[in-house]
Amino acid sequence: MSESLRTIRTEVKAYQIDLHCEQADCDGMMVTCEGMVYMSSPPQYPHKCTKCDTKRYITGITYPCIEQHKEVLNESELRARYYSGKSGATS
Ligand SMILES: [Zn+2]
Repeated sequence: MSESLRTIRTEVKAYQIDLHCEQADCDGMMVTCEGMVYMSSPPQYPHKCTKCDTKRYITGITYPCIEQHKEVLNESELRARYYSGKSGATS
């Protein structure tokens, strides 16, 4: 540890993102199969429903995942940010 390192503490708001099962009559959640990855490009991660065992490959991300923001966002702001890709400079 160098003495010159400066650390800054910023309180962040963390959001857990769960992927709902795609089956209409199932309220289970899709969860990643721990440690498994299908090495394509980009990589695909096998997920399995917690209730009905439906399987699905998800590209490039595993669920549930944690997203952190410095500010508290409401649902529509979160969605806009999520679908517009990487958040750029904030005003
Ligand atoms: Zn299900």
